[in-house]
Amino acid sequence: MNNQPPGTALGNILVVDDTPENLRLLSTMLTHRGYAPRCVINGQMALRACNSNPPDLILLDIMMPEMNGYEVCQHLKSEGKTREIPVIFISAKDEVFDKVNAFAVGAVDYISKPFQFEEVLARIESHLTLRNLQKQLKEQNLLLQEEISSRLAVEKTLHEKNLILQEEISTRRAVEKALQEQNLLLQQEISNRQRAESALLKSNQELARSNAELEQFAYVASHDLQAPLATIASYAQLLEKRYKDQLDSQAIKFIGNIVHGCTRMQSLIDDLLEYSRVGRSHKPFELVDCNDAIQQTVANLQGAIRDTEAVVTYSNLPAVVGDISQLVQLFQNLIGNAIKYRRDAPPAVHIAACKQEENWLFSISDNGIGIALQHQERIFQIFQRLHTQREYSGTGIGLAICQKIVQRHGGCIWVESEPGQGSTFHFTLAD
Ligand code: ADP
Repeated sequence: MNNQPPGTALGNILVVDDTPENLRLLSTMLTHRGYAPRCVINGQMALRACNSNPPDLILLDIMMPEMNGYEVCQHLKSEGKTREIPVIFISAKDEVFDKVNAFAVGAVDYISKPFQFEEVLARIESHLTLRNLQKQLKEQNLLLQEEISSRLAVEKTLHEKNLILQEEISTRRAVEKALQEQNLLLQQEISNRQRAESALLKSNQELARSNAELEQFAYVASHDLQAPLATIASYAQLLEKRYKDQLDSQAIKFIGNIVHGCTRMQSLIDDLLEYSRVGRSHKPFELVDCNDAIQQTVANLQGAIRDTEAVVTYSNLPAVVGDISQLVQLFQNLIGNAIKYRRDAPPAVHIAACKQEENWLFSISDNGIGIALQHQERIFQIFQRLHTQREYSGTGIGLAICQKIVQRHGGCIWVESEPGQGSTFHFTLAD
């Protein structure tokens, strides 16, 4: 069997024999058959040759001086580098050859002299083939082991990735669950809010309807009260005029009380009508110069200003969009109160306005009697008064009208005050 490429030897064979003739014979035969034989004549040389360049096979003579074949073989089998080299013993015909010992020390085969070349070649060839197959098997084994370990590594990586993936999946599931729960809560919140909003809308509508009804009622009631009231007052006055001489002083005082009561009721009705008119007005808004509105107000209050020697000042006021007659009424109620609720000194009233982000902040300050903190909210409610008629006349409707006008213009109104230190009424109007 010669599968070697041309120019390369079939195998590197070490021939060990102390008989030069044998060496020559074997060397010639092997060279002739395409092998590359090396020849040595004793055991020591054989070990050295194997160590420097291990052959593919060794033909080893048994009977040699100093170191016999068994010993050489034992040495070779004890070294890792040479352990795998197949050794075929060569025994002379007359030698006492111990086959059992030969195999025990590691030989793969034996040949008896005289050689039959074909037998020698056949044995060499079969052992070389075996050796090659062993080598191949070993290499394949190595490759297989590499393959297995790389597969194991891949499997391990895959397993790790799988674990990470499973963790990722369970985290995602947890997140999804949390999201779903939050979503549910959010949906509940939304439907709660929607319910609350629709309830609010309903109650707002209800409030607007009942406000409108109230305004209508206040208007109708006050309007219808005026005629009988005028009748009572005029008949009382007629009574006094016609029967003055027949009545005693007490009766005349009673009639005076009736007339006074009618006058008071008339002013209450007037203010109530005014109050109900604010919400019912459909006059379109226009640009109003507040300086003009104040001038008109001051003119309307001329009598009170003269009587009390009041000083009304104002700095440059802006123009706003609104209902001029309602704005005049607003200024008039506030400046009128500032004059009415005065102390001994002549009233000093100042009107100012400053620009805020989206609106104007107006302030009307006075040097009057001031208002205690606990009353500062309720004075804006209808009929809320802090004084008797004897102390200060009034109906308790003026500030409620102011609040309604400001709200109708999209603003709000409040007061800052201290008893004895004067008051400042603030209100906002859209720019
Ligand atoms: P009226 O003046 O007719 O009583 P208002 O609604 O105008 O009604 O005012 C309500 C109450 O607020 C008044 O009775 C008064 O006690 C108090 N008030 C209003 N303006 C002032 C002010 N500038 N200084 C002190 N008190 C005031």
